[in-house]
Amino acid sequence: MIIIKNGYLVDPENNLNGKFDILIENGVIKKIDKNIEPFAGVEVINAENLIITPSFVDLHVHFRDPGQTYKEDIYTGSLAAVAGGYTTVVCMPNTLPAIDDVTIVRYIIEKGEEVGLCRVLPSAAITKGRKGKELTEMALLKDAGAVYFTDDGAPVMDSFIMRKAMEYAGSIGSFVADHCEDLNLSNNGVAHEGEIAAALGLPPLPPEAEDTMVARDCILSIQTGMPVHICHISSKLSVEIVAWAKAMGAKVTAEVTPHHLYLTDEEFLDFSCIAKVSPPLRTHQDIEATRWALASGIIDYVATDHAPHSHNEKMMDLHICPPGMIGLQFALPIVLELVKKDYFDLNRLVEVMSTNPAKKIGIKPPALKEGEIAELTIFDPFESWEVNEETILSKSKNTPLLGKKLVGKVKYTFYNGKMVYKDKQ
Ligand SMILES: [Zn+2]
Repeated sequence: MIIIKNGYLVDPENNLNGKFDILIENGVIKKIDKNIEPFAGVEVINAENLIITPSFVDLHVHFRDPGQTYKEDIYTGSLAAVAGGYTTVVCMPNTLPAIDDVTIVRYIIEKGEEVGLCRVLPSAAITKGRKGKELTEMALLKDAGAVYFTDDGAPVMDSFIMRKAMEYAGSIGSFVADHCEDLNLSNNGVAHEGEIAAALGLPPLPPEAEDTMVARDCILSIQTGMPVHICHISSKLSVEIVAWAKAMGAKVTAEVTPHHLYLTDEEFLDFSCIAKVSPPLRTHQDIEATRWALASGIIDYVATDHAPHSHNEKMMDLHICPPGMIGLQFALPIVLELVKKDYFDLNRLVEVMSTNPAKKIGIKPPALKEGEIAELTIFDPFESWEVNEETILSKSKNTPLLGKKLVGKVKYTFYNGKMVYKDKQ
């Protein structure tokens, strides 16, 4: 049995916003009260000055298993997840082979359960081999446990295929999520088309590569009446298009990554591959737009797009190195900073990090409520820590934040009634 003393609890779904003690017995939240006295045999966690929320849910991670486990695997990915306060993650299907087959869907679920640190769920590809041509057997994949469909890493370029995919996924009670990028417009660009790319002579990637596909998907959603989800939205105009589509009654949802909320294309100033990500890091105006959209509900939740790559891959030439950066351990400090800067409050943090993504895939949102299995995150909102080889628990260390300090640190994570992470300090 565990008593968590004096933590500040935030869970808007359960009208909690204040200082309470929590008693956990056999993994279940037995009691939430102003003062629970410790008794013989009980373990006490002192949560004075710490915040306790439902644990986080990330619908967009790349754990690289099967096929590229030198970058990450389900064990190391799970370690990074729980250190970031996450207890549910959804793996992207751009593995080798792609998750387009029932056996691979089952493999991810079983491997995740074997590791047992958090809930590891698969998405599945929209098209076979993620080649954009032929739809997968979505109904079978959904029955096997795929929680949604995406060709992420690549867009579905063919609009007719995308329309069919939306209708098919929607008709079986699921949805498609699109990596919005018109590959003809992006034309092997590396950096956001703007002053920085021009000054450095980097191949420019125009924002309309994203914007036109976001617009297309929104229109298809309006016309078909079926849901579509926009992955890693990053440009100001894309945000405005989603706002328009929502006003039109479209079943459109959108996610934003921590890096698109925090970093700009200035990260390219040292010509490093570390700054290369898809979609590219953009400008201060784009960042402002995504922050306010996350506050207002135009953007529904945060997803990390945690994309590990090896050191060697990120040492390659900027034109050919693979895009992507890790993010599971940085989401909380970055979103917390937006709370401190008054973009939104802690209730909204819980919505965008936990409740909304859980509801999106139809799982029960973690809840601070008597009778519920303990799935919660305890963090210090003011602890400063350095991002380095030691503090990053992911197998890969590819992030522009390396060597920098972040404020806000996860101290404990509980999953399925058990403590699965405890900070060393
Ligand atoms: Zn993507």
